[in-house]
Amino acid sequence: MSQYWSQLVHTLTPYVPGEQPKVDNLIKLNTNESPYPPSPLVLNALTNQLNDKLRLYPDPSSEDLKQSIATYYGVESRQVFVGNGSDEVLAHAFMALLKQDKPILFPDISYSFYPVYCGLYEIDHQTIPLTDAFEINPADYNIENGGIIFPNPNAPTGRLLPLQAIEQIVQQNASSVVVVDEAYIDFGGESAAQLVKRYPNLLVVQTFSKSRALAGLRVGFALGDSALIEGLERVKNSFNSYPLDRLATAGAIAAIEDEAYFKQSCEKIISTRDTLTQFLEDNGFEVIPSAANFVFTKHPQMQAEDIAQQLRKKAIIVRYFNKPRIDQYLRITIGTEQENTQLCQALTDIL
Ligand code: PMP
Repeated sequence: MSQYWSQLVHTLTPYVPGEQPKVDNLIKLNTNESPYPPSPLVLNALTNQLNDKLRLYPDPSSEDLKQSIATYYGVESRQVFVGNGSDEVLAHAFMALLKQDKPILFPDISYSFYPVYCGLYEIDHQTIPLTDAFEINPADYNIENGGIIFPNPNAPTGRLLPLQAIEQIVQQNASSVVVVDEAYIDFGGESAAQLVKRYPNLLVVQTFSKSRALAGLRVGFALGDSALIEGLERVKNSFNSYPLDRLATAGAIAAIEDEAYFKQSCEKIISTRDTLTQFLEDNGFEVIPSAANFVFTKHPQMQAEDIAQQLRKKAIIVRYFNKPRIDQYLRITIGTEQENTQLCQALTDIL
């Protein structure tokens, strides 16, 4: 093995995604997927592609999808970038926009892929602690930096940063790019999408994996000034000219078209989140207020790992963390109403 290769093997610390179990008979509340199927329009769109289309390359620019997203958010299609899941969009953003001579900033705690990208692209970074209430404080981001990234709502806490606080971060960092990762924004937050028309240093990243129930299809996108998008396009075209296949493109377009279904699914998830939060609080758990499709919670007496293992024995799978400061926290994805009833029953048995 060459020296460089063995160095890679020993120095890169890849992201470890939550478990994707092989069996179907689990209540899977560990990786924040939608508990509902995608819109029926998606199935039709996929079927239409299957006939004589798959032998042909897809449109490398995914123009139709960009146009749908642009129309939905009231921007131009040259302000839209699409990729193979928002993880890929974020990876391109790290590569294109954040490689600076100053460190990039992100919160400690936030999405654990960010330090992984920094390792991959050798980007210097500095983490900014959350407040005691797990909040992002905009004033803490008023220091020299080569770019800023944070999820809103934050992950894994679910805490939402109001739009005016985002605007403050964007304004006070006019010479840096600020990336807002809105993977969970549709579950109760207000998107910063409209701000991209006013701020050329703002990039908003979203995904079809959560609120549009298409995690398996892998589609994410970014909205931003056309100069930022052009940067992402150049990285993409130097890496993989066809990141989105025909099924992904057609499915995502159909999902965007079914606004009524989208709204209804989000509303059901929000209402189940309220029910679960109430149950947890009534049973002594501390619950961080969530604007996402999961709750972040801990029990004052019981170890998170213990609860997770006991739930697992009852065929319910949730996530817990082994990181300082959040090691006693569970992150529980919101399931269907019925799954939630089963979860609450299982927790009652355990406590
Ligand atoms: N950002 C955050 C904050 C996430 O939690 C996730 C999902 N793990 C992603 C981005 C990536 O989602 P996807 O690649 O499925 O679009």
